[in-house]
Amino acid sequence: MIQPVNGKFEMPALPYGMADLAPVLSQESMLFHFGKHLQTYLNNLNAALPGSAFEGKSIEEIVKTSEGGLFNNAGQFLNHAMYFLQFKTPSTNNVPAGEIARAITRDFGTFEIFQNEFQTKGAGLFGSGWVWLSANDNGKLVITQEGNAQNPITKGLKPLLTFDVWEHAYYIDYRNRRPDYLKAMWSIVNWDEVNNRFG
Ligand code: MN
Repeated sequence: MIQPVNGKFEMPALPYGMADLAPVLSQESMLFHFGKHLQTYLNNLNAALPGSAFEGKSIEEIVKTSEGGLFNNAGQFLNHAMYFLQFKTPSTNNVPAGEIARAITRDFGTFEIFQNEFQTKGAGLFGSGWVWLSANDNGKLVITQEGNAQNPITKGLKPLLTFDVWEHAYYIDYRNRRPDYLKAMWSIVNWDEVNNRFG
């Protein structure tokens, strides 16, 4: 999905502007989260690659096989790239369609039951991390909590959708109200992108 260009990774090209996700995520929040936090993870990753065993490898390969500081920056680059690439301008009644909609109904019962479990696991993750929807080898959907820079690919899962629950993701717009942030996020999910990832 995300390949290095001339040995360096680049900021993801977003299909929307920094002010376009408001009021769910404000322009100020985007300028800090995308513009500063993600940029720093990317800069650190690119600084660590030259001369290492990971030079020229895909980001997925690096995340699956590295450790320590390099893993942290590679994981956070992949996590944030997938996070920011899965959004679109807010819309009401924004529900999944296609294959992912059928799989959610099959594996969770209803979209509402899935949303509640996803929000509960996001709100219940202690400290910093990510709540993920992924598919296992059999195509069955699972929700996992991943601490810090972790990504479900290290568990052999195919990551499909994620909400960042590090405080920097929501503190500008929602202060300490992580559950309110999680609940608001559904209106900006681009389910076409989630379907593409589900394949
Ligand atoms: Mn973040």
